[in-house]
Amino acid sequence: KVAYASNEDLIRYRKQHLGKSLSLQYKIPIKMVRGAGQYLMDQYGKKYLDTVNNVAHVGHEHYTVVKAGQEQMALINTNSRYLHENINTLTKELIETLPQELNVLHFVNSGSEANELAIRMVKANTGERDIIASEVGYHGNSNMCIDISSYKFDGKGGHGAPEHTHIFPLPDKFRGKYRGEHAGKNYAKEVQKLIDNIHKKGRGVGAFIIEPIISCGGQIELPDGFLAEAYKKIRAAGGLCISDEVQVGCGRMGKTFWGFQQHNVIPDIVTIGKPLGNGHPIAAVACTQEVANRFANGMEYFNTFGGNPVSCAIATEVLRTIKREKLQENALKVGTYLKDELKKLSEVFPIIGDVRGQGLFLGFELVDSNMNPLPAQADYLANRMKYHGILMSTDGPDYNVLKIKPPMVFTKENAEALIFYLKKIFAEDFMQL
Ligand code: PMP
Repeated sequence: KVAYASNEDLIRYRKQHLGKSLSLQYKIPIKMVRGAGQYLMDQYGKKYLDTVNNVAHVGHEHYTVVKAGQEQMALINTNSRYLHENINTLTKELIETLPQELNVLHFVNSGSEANELAIRMVKANTGERDIIASEVGYHGNSNMCIDISSYKFDGKGGHGAPEHTHIFPLPDKFRGKYRGEHAGKNYAKEVQKLIDNIHKKGRGVGAFIIEPIISCGGQIELPDGFLAEAYKKIRAAGGLCISDEVQVGCGRMGKTFWGFQQHNVIPDIVTIGKPLGNGHPIAAVACTQEVANRFANGMEYFNTFGGNPVSCAIATEVLRTIKREKLQENALKVGTYLKDELKKLSEVFPIIGDVRGQGLFLGFELVDSNMNPLPAQADYLANRMKYHGILMSTDGPDYNVLKIKPPMVFTKENAEALIFYLKKIFAEDFMQL
């Protein structure tokens, strides 16, 4: 018989022996013991509807994905210096989802590693190290990724932007610097200002990196025309354009498989992470032949785990499951329904200042009548929803945005349940927190 530790014991041990800057979700942390589809179960058998986890893309512990990993694990797992069908098959199936220009892949193990490699490619291609990125953007936990993540270096424990990082204002149409119909053009002008500053220092532009919907920024949808305009300016300055699809990729946006495709642009480099392995650590960098050729300057790129047969078997099955179960279509259908319902809710409860996002990557922002952010109320809401068995997360520079990015098997009935409980909690008197 296994003797399970109490949650208190687990917490005490973590505090002593695990990294001191790790955090725990919720005021009273949960121990999850099982996952299935869009649901999780804690140690007491309580079932939760998961609206947070965009890693368990095709559903927690999806049967055929688990099976693909188990079967390959029992046969062979090696590094990519040996030939294997799995890496070629995955490459072929992943490339089919991308514009034809982006037809070279490097496999890595995390979103951070993907962005880290993308920046190495930029340096090898352009000879420049100046990177332009968004305010409150997040691109990963490595040295280089932190250096381009305003979410981190402008936040607690951070020391501001490093010399070679250039940050434009969060392109937020709701509470940002520019609003209204010219927002896209105006934010693009901010990018041009940064390009000019880099030139004034006698240096050149390496790259521009952004997510198609800025997740840590609070599910910020890019204003119309912004991305195309920014790409034009970056390319005119000789820089490369990177689309960080770690959160939004693989069909989540509903209308398109990749986020950048909603903006009529083709990046030079695309970074892919979280959903690709449905919880197993596999990520990828897609780029053009030209970018890949310039990166291959004689130095071998070796990655012990990147592209191993087990990871590739899993990722291939994830891609096939998205197609087979029509999950991109589901994201569009259920996401559109949920967004409409949230908009209706915002008319009844004006504390919901803005509803935004695409497909199953949505968010809503809590503000008072003067547009001031309400983080305490957002936190209250997330914790009350947890009580009712629905997991939600908060984010954004002011932590007043509720994010909705569930496994893609999320149903209309799940959306109805979410709306039902949101209504119930918004009717509680919690403005005075
Ligand atoms: N890019 C984005 C947009 C992310 O949200 C994250 C992780 N939250 C990363 C990169 C880094 O990915 P990982 O945690 O897998 O290293």
